[in-house]
Amino acid sequence: MLDGQERSRRAALAAKRVPGLESERVAGIAVTFVDTAGITRVKGVPLAGFERAAAWGVGATPVFDAFGADDSIAATPVANPAGDLRLMPDVERVVRLAGQPGWAWAPGDRYTQDGQPHPGCARLLAARMTERLGAAGLTALAAFEVEWVVYRADPTLAHPSPARPVPAASGPAYGMTRLIELNDYTVELLRALAAQGVQVGQLHPEYAPSQFELSVAPECPVSAADTSVLVRATIRAVAARHGLAVSFAPSVSDPGVGNGGHLHLSIARDGDNLFTGGEGTFGLTVEAEAFTAGVLARLPALLAVGAPSVSSYLRLLPSHWAGVFTCWGLENREAAVRLVTGSVGEQDRAANVEFKCFDQSANPYLLVAGVLAAGVAGLEDGARLPEPIHADPAGLSAEERSRVDARRLPEKLAESLSAFEADPVLTGAFGPEFTETIAAVRRAEIEKFAGASNAEIIEATRWRY
Ligand code: GLU
Ligand code: MG
Repeated sequence: MLDGQERSRRAALAAKRVPGLESERVAGIAVTFVDTAGITRVKGVPLAGFERAAAWGVGATPVFDAFGADDSIAATPVANPAGDLRLMPDVERVVRLAGQPGWAWAPGDRYTQDGQPHPGCARLLAARMTERLGAAGLTALAAFEVEWVVYRADPTLAHPSPARPVPAASGPAYGMTRLIELNDYTVELLRALAAQGVQVGQLHPEYAPSQFELSVAPECPVSAADTSVLVRATIRAVAARHGLAVSFAPSVSDPGVGNGGHLHLSIARDGDNLFTGGEGTFGLTVEAEAFTAGVLARLPALLAVGAPSVSSYLRLLPSHWAGVFTCWGLENREAAVRLVTGSVGEQDRAANVEFKCFDQSANPYLLVAGVLAAGVAGLEDGARLPEPIHADPAGLSAEERSRVDARRLPEKLAESLSAFEADPVLTGAFGPEFTETIAAVRRAEIEKFAGASNAEIIEATRWRY
């Protein structure tokens, strides 16, 4: 609830930041939120209006919740042109955008006009789910991996041409050639991220043509989702300054390996990482196992928020490193759930679990909220993991797969959506209004692409994400 005292606190914090931002020649603050379809939307405020926006927010129609990735509006109870929400910049997270000189950025939360949290605000939901974990005495650290493909922007068009995407790098997967080909771009990208306080783990050319990947240090779940938004905006902005265009879309070529948005997560009690030093398999503690098992059991339903576009299912193919079977394994890149223990000596810092089946058409706030809700349910149920697997599940016999309970994840968005709607843990955590909106937005996309070929889906989505 935003009361007068909280509004004054926020205004004072903003006022404190203004002189510094002014000296960095910032003209405006881009306040972002991510919609139900996974698109980052923005409202800009001039620096002179920052203090007021910090206290009272910026207007945002509730209809945004019903937007599709193609800007169509689904028929939902919130698709009402009347009413208003206040998009409140998080003044503690404001940062000057090094790739967009003159702009600063702040992630926003959405409240009603009477100061109540908006039930459809994914960022506030992620904060509530983090608190739910906190009520069990636990904290979480999370990080999203970012994969993207770099193209030459066509200077004759206002936006990159859907019909003629020309990859910007031709060097081999993981090849040094690609870093040389895109030398200035990658250098400026690292500098921009460092200037923005983003701690990059690594940057490397990935498997698909002209694809790159960047990993970042883990943070609390809401900050990890913020960082995912910031990193992708930076990757895009720096690319534009180099005559390049980027795509984070789940699928960019058919056939081909897509862009994943893997989520790394660990939980801790009193600062002790529960993914190491336990009595269980590979050093898992009972709680880390239960948390992970809770998520694993709900992966089909979680795909409705973690692989929420029709194009997500063009990426989710066996033996494409996307983790399309409900199974887990130590460092197994074909399992949906990959346990990472880290090297001996750094396990307390490094051990975590990676959920590989998700992609970047997901709203990262909604996704961490769902994963935390599922993990907490696993803790409450004392859930247990099946046997781990050490091979590509696609290569196992049906019998071997059933022994480790490795089932194929949904092959269509409609299937994930049905699993989501039937899951009381997730729908309970999200609440009836948000659940209904998610379902309506997904259904609209399913309808839009009914009968479309893979190539048509890829063309229609490449430049949306
Ligand atoms: N690009 C793969 C995906 O679609 C992931 C590659 C990797 O393991 O990093 O998820
Ligand atoms: Mg990768």
